[in-house]
Amino acid sequence: MSYNIAIDGPAGAGKSTIARAAAKEMNLIYVDTGAMYRAMTLFMIREGIDLQDTEAIIKKCREADITIRYQDGVQVVFLNGENVNAYLRTEEVGHAASSYVSVIPQVREKLRELQKRLAAESDCIMDGRDIGTCVLPHADRKIYLTASSEVRAKRRYDELTAKGEACDLKKIQEDIEERDYQDMHREISPLKQAEDAVLLDTSGMAVEEVVARVLSICQPTPLDHCSRE
Ligand code: C5P
Repeated sequence: MSYNIAIDGPAGAGKSTIARAAAKEMNLIYVDTGAMYRAMTLFMIREGIDLQDTEAIIKKCREADITIRYQDGVQVVFLNGENVNAYLRTEEVGHAASSYVSVIPQVREKLRELQKRLAAESDCIMDGRDIGTCVLPHADRKIYLTASSEVRAKRRYDELTAKGEACDLKKIQEDIEERDYQDMHREISPLKQAEDAVLLDTSGMAVEEVVARVLSICQPTPLDHCSRE
Protein backbone atom coordinates (compact mmCIF):
# COMPACT_ATOMS: atom_id res chain seq x y z
CA MET A 1 0.00 0.00 0.00
CA SER A 2 1.23 3.48 -0.72
CA TYR A 3 1.78 6.26 1.83
CA ASN A 4 -0.51 9.20 1.14
CA ILE A 5 -0.60 12.69 2.60
CA ALA A 6 -3.59 14.95 1.91
CA ILE A 7 -3.24 18.72 2.08
CA ASP A 8 -6.32 20.87 1.60
CA GLY A 9 -6.99 24.54 2.02
CA PRO A 10 -8.18 27.72 0.33
CA ALA A 11 -6.59 29.50 -2.65
CA GLY A 12 -3.29 31.17 -1.87
CA ALA A 13 -2.65 29.38 1.43
CA GLY A 14 0.72 28.21 0.08
CA LYS A 15 -0.31 24.58 -0.38
CA SER A 16 1.72 23.98 -3.51
CA THR A 17 4.91 25.65 -2.21
CA ILE A 18 4.71 23.71 1.04
CA ALA A 19 3.63 20.40 -0.47
CA ARG A 20 6.34 20.57 -3.15
CA ALA A 21 9.06 21.27 -0.58
CA ALA A 22 7.83 18.56 1.80
CA ALA A 23 7.52 16.04 -1.04
CA LYS A 24 11.13 16.69 -2.01
CA GLU A 25 12.34 16.24 1.58
CA MET A 26 10.36 13.03 1.99
CA ASN A 27 11.09 11.72 -1.48
CA LEU A 28 7.41 11.43 -2.40
CA ILE A 29 5.71 12.64 -5.54
CA TYR A 30 3.71 15.84 -5.36
CA VAL A 31 0.27 15.75 -6.96
CA ASP A 32 -1.28 19.17 -7.63
CA THR A 33 -4.98 18.48 -8.24
CA GLY A 34 -5.78 22.16 -8.88
CA ALA A 35 -3.71 21.83 -12.07
CA MET A 36 -6.06 19.08 -13.26
CA TYR A 37 -9.13 21.29 -12.78
CA ARG A 38 -7.25 24.07 -14.51
CA ALA A 39 -6.36 21.79 -17.46
CA MET A 40 -10.00 20.80 -17.86
CA THR A 41 -10.97 24.47 -17.76
CA LEU A 42 -8.31 25.38 -20.32
CA PHE A 43 -9.74 22.70 -22.60
CA MET A 44 -13.25 24.23 -22.35
CA ILE A 45 -11.94 27.74 -23.04
CA ARG A 46 -9.90 26.57 -26.04
CA GLU A 47 -12.88 24.65 -27.42
CA GLY A 48 -14.99 27.81 -27.20
CA ILE A 49 -17.49 26.23 -24.81
CA ASP A 50 -19.91 28.63 -23.14
CA LEU A 51 -18.84 28.22 -19.51
CA GLN A 52 -22.36 28.93 -18.27
CA ASP A 53 -23.60 25.92 -20.25
CA THR A 54 -23.20 23.01 -17.83
CA GLU A 55 -24.56 20.42 -20.25
CA ALA A 56 -22.02 21.47 -22.88
CA ILE A 57 -19.17 21.12 -20.36
CA ILE A 58 -20.39 17.68 -19.29
CA LYS A 59 -20.53 16.50 -22.90
CA LYS A 60 -17.17 18.01 -23.84
CA CYS A 61 -15.30 16.75 -20.79
CA ARG A 62 -15.47 13.22 -22.21
CA GLU A 63 -13.08 14.38 -24.96
CA ALA A 64 -10.46 15.67 -22.52
CA ASP A 65 -7.73 13.18 -21.80
CA ILE A 66 -5.79 14.57 -18.83
CA THR A 67 -2.70 12.70 -17.70
CA ILE A 68 0.18 13.45 -15.38
CA ARG A 69 3.82 12.65 -15.85
CA TYR A 70 6.89 13.57 -13.84
CA GLN A 71 9.89 15.15 -15.52
CA ASP A 72 12.86 15.86 -13.22
CA GLY A 73 10.49 15.62 -10.27
CA VAL A 74 8.13 18.24 -11.70
CA GLN A 75 4.49 17.43 -12.37
CA VAL A 76 3.65 17.92 -16.03
CA VAL A 77 0.01 17.98 -17.06
CA PHE A 78 -0.81 16.66 -20.50
CA LEU A 79 -4.07 17.63 -22.15
CA ASN A 80 -4.78 15.32 -25.07
CA GLY A 81 -1.07 14.69 -25.38
CA GLU A 82 0.09 18.33 -25.10
CA ASN A 83 2.13 19.63 -22.18
CA VAL A 84 -0.07 22.51 -20.95
CA ASN A 85 1.79 23.52 -17.77
CA ALA A 86 2.59 26.96 -19.17
CA TYR A 87 -1.09 27.85 -19.67
CA LEU A 88 -2.61 26.81 -16.36
CA ARG A 89 -1.64 29.50 -13.85
CA THR A 90 -3.60 32.46 -15.23
CA GLU A 91 -6.33 34.35 -13.35
CA GLU A 92 -8.75 33.63 -16.20
CA VAL A 93 -8.28 29.87 -15.92
CA GLY A 94 -8.31 29.88 -12.08
CA HIS A 95 -11.45 31.95 -11.92
CA ALA A 96 -13.29 29.87 -14.53
CA ALA A 97 -12.16 26.65 -12.83
CA SER A 98 -13.68 27.62 -9.50
CA SER A 99 -16.81 29.31 -10.88
CA TYR A 100 -17.87 26.92 -13.61
CA VAL A 101 -15.88 23.76 -14.10
CA SER A 102 -15.04 22.36 -10.65
CA VAL A 103 -18.69 22.63 -9.56
CA ILE A 104 -19.80 19.94 -12.03
CA PRO A 105 -20.09 16.41 -10.55
CA GLN A 106 -19.20 14.64 -13.82
CA VAL A 107 -15.96 16.65 -14.09
CA ARG A 108 -15.07 15.91 -10.49
CA GLU A 109 -15.78 12.22 -10.92
CA LYS A 110 -13.47 11.99 -13.91
CA LEU A 111 -10.60 13.82 -12.19
CA ARG A 112 -11.13 11.99 -8.92
CA GLU A 113 -10.54 8.68 -10.70
CA LEU A 114 -7.19 9.93 -11.96
CA GLN A 115 -6.27 11.25 -8.50
CA LYS A 116 -7.18 8.00 -6.73
CA ARG A 117 -5.19 6.00 -9.25
CA LEU A 118 -2.10 8.16 -8.77
CA ALA A 119 -2.35 7.83 -4.98
CA ALA A 120 -2.81 4.07 -5.16
CA GLU A 121 0.24 3.70 -7.41
CA SER A 122 2.67 6.00 -5.58
CA ASP A 123 3.65 7.39 -2.20
CA CYS A 124 2.54 10.99 -2.58
CA ILE A 125 1.54 14.33 -1.15
CA MET A 126 -1.64 15.44 -2.87
CA ASP A 127 -3.07 18.91 -2.49
CA GLY A 128 -6.44 20.37 -3.37
CA ARG A 129 -9.80 21.18 -1.80
CA ASP A 130 -11.43 17.78 -1.21
CA ILE A 131 -8.48 15.40 -0.84
CA GLY A 132 -8.88 14.60 2.87
CA THR A 133 -12.67 14.62 2.71
CA CYS A 134 -13.45 12.84 -0.59
CA VAL A 135 -10.51 11.69 -2.70
CA LEU A 136 -8.36 10.05 0.01
CA PRO A 137 -10.55 9.71 3.09
CA HIS A 138 -8.09 7.10 4.43
CA ALA A 139 -4.93 9.14 3.82
CA ASP A 140 -2.12 8.42 6.30
CA ARG A 141 -1.90 12.13 7.21
CA LYS A 142 -4.24 15.05 6.58
CA ILE A 143 -3.44 18.73 6.91
CA TYR A 144 -5.72 21.71 6.43
CA LEU A 145 -3.52 24.64 5.51
CA THR A 146 -4.95 28.11 5.76
CA ALA A 147 -4.13 31.78 6.38
CA SER A 148 -6.21 34.95 6.66
CA SER A 149 -7.38 36.42 3.36
CA GLU A 150 -5.31 39.58 4.10
CA VAL A 151 -2.15 37.54 4.42
CA ARG A 152 -2.90 35.42 1.34
CA ALA A 153 -3.64 38.55 -0.71
CA LYS A 154 -0.43 40.22 0.45
CA ARG A 155 1.64 37.14 -0.48
CA ARG A 156 0.07 37.08 -3.94
CA TYR A 157 0.61 40.84 -4.32
CA ASP A 158 4.31 40.49 -3.41
CA GLU A 159 4.67 37.60 -5.84
CA LEU A 160 3.17 39.59 -8.73
CA THR A 161 5.01 42.83 -8.01
CA ALA A 162 8.29 40.89 -7.76
CA LYS A 163 7.59 39.75 -11.33
CA GLY A 164 7.00 43.38 -12.33
CA GLU A 165 3.25 42.93 -12.83
CA ALA A 166 1.00 45.85 -11.88
CA CYS A 167 -1.73 44.80 -9.45
CA ASP A 168 -4.13 46.06 -6.84
CA LEU A 169 -3.98 44.56 -3.34
CA LYS A 170 -7.65 45.24 -2.56
CA LYS A 171 -8.80 43.60 -5.79
CA ILE A 172 -6.60 40.55 -5.13
CA GLN A 173 -8.12 40.16 -1.67
CA GLU A 174 -11.65 40.47 -3.09
CA ASP A 175 -10.88 37.79 -5.71
CA ILE A 176 -9.47 35.47 -3.04
CA GLU A 177 -12.54 35.92 -0.86
CA GLU A 178 -14.84 35.28 -3.82
CA ARG A 179 -12.92 32.08 -4.66
CA ASP A 180 -13.12 30.97 -0.99
CA TYR A 181 -16.85 31.50 -1.00
CA GLN A 182 -17.32 29.52 -4.22
CA ASP A 183 -15.08 26.65 -3.12
CA MET A 184 -16.67 26.44 0.35
CA HIS A 185 -20.29 26.73 -0.70
CA ARG A 186 -20.57 24.56 -3.79
CA GLU A 187 -22.93 21.62 -3.48
CA ILE A 188 -20.46 18.91 -4.37
CA SER A 189 -17.22 18.31 -2.46
CA PRO A 190 -17.01 21.78 -0.92
CA LEU A 191 -13.75 22.88 0.65
CA LYS A 192 -13.78 22.03 4.32
CA GLN A 193 -11.43 20.69 6.95
CA ALA A 194 -11.68 16.91 7.34
CA GLU A 195 -12.51 15.95 10.90
CA ASP A 196 -9.21 14.13 11.29
CA ALA A 197 -7.05 16.81 9.61
CA VAL A 198 -4.49 18.89 11.49
CA LEU A 199 -5.27 22.60 11.14
CA LEU A 200 -2.27 24.74 10.28
CA ASP A 201 -2.81 28.50 10.14
CA THR A 202 0.26 29.91 8.42
CA SER A 203 -0.65 33.61 8.77
CA GLY A 204 2.31 34.51 10.96
CA MET A 205 4.68 31.80 9.76
CA ALA A 206 7.61 31.78 7.33
CA VAL A 207 7.66 29.12 4.59
CA GLU A 208 10.53 27.21 6.25
CA GLU A 209 8.60 27.05 9.53
CA VAL A 210 5.51 25.67 7.79
CA VAL A 211 7.56 23.06 5.91
CA ALA A 212 9.24 21.97 9.16
CA ARG A 213 5.87 21.67 10.87
CA VAL A 214 4.41 19.67 7.97
CA LEU A 215 7.42 17.36 7.99
CA SER A 216 7.07 16.78 11.71
CA ILE A 217 3.41 15.84 11.21
CA CYS A 218 4.01 13.68 8.16
CA GLN A 219 7.12 11.60 8.78
CA PRO A 220 5.95 8.00 8.86
CA THR A 221 6.41 6.20 12.18
CA PRO A 222 6.99 2.44 12.71
CA LEU A 223 3.28 2.27 13.50
CA ASP A 224 2.47 3.45 9.95
CA HIS A 225 4.53 0.62 8.48
CA CYS A 226 2.73 -1.93 10.67
CA SER A 227 -0.72 -0.72 9.70
CA ARG A 228 0.22 -0.83 6.01
CA GLU A 229 1.54 -4.36 6.02
O1 C5P B 1 -5.52 25.12 -6.35
P1 C5P B 1 -5.85 25.89 -7.59
O2 C5P B 1 -6.03 27.36 -7.38
O3 C5P B 1 -4.92 25.59 -8.72
O4 C5P B 1 -7.26 25.30 -8.05
C1 C5P B 1 -8.06 25.93 -9.02
C2 C5P B 1 -9.52 25.66 -8.73
O5 C5P B 1 -9.80 24.27 -8.94
C3 C5P B 1 -9.94 25.92 -7.28
O6 C5P B 1 -10.36 27.25 -7.03
C4 C5P B 1 -11.09 24.96 -7.08
O7 C5P B 1 -12.30 25.53 -7.50
C5 C5P B 1 -10.75 23.82 -8.02
N1 C5P B 1 -10.26 22.65 -7.29
C6 C5P B 1 -11.19 21.79 -6.75
N2 C5P B 1 -10.79 20.65 -6.12
C7 C5P B 1 -9.48 20.35 -6.00
C8 C5P B 1 -8.51 21.23 -6.53
C9 C5P B 1 -8.92 22.39 -7.16
O8 C5P B 1 -12.38 22.03 -6.84
N3 C5P B 1 -9.13 19.19 -5.41
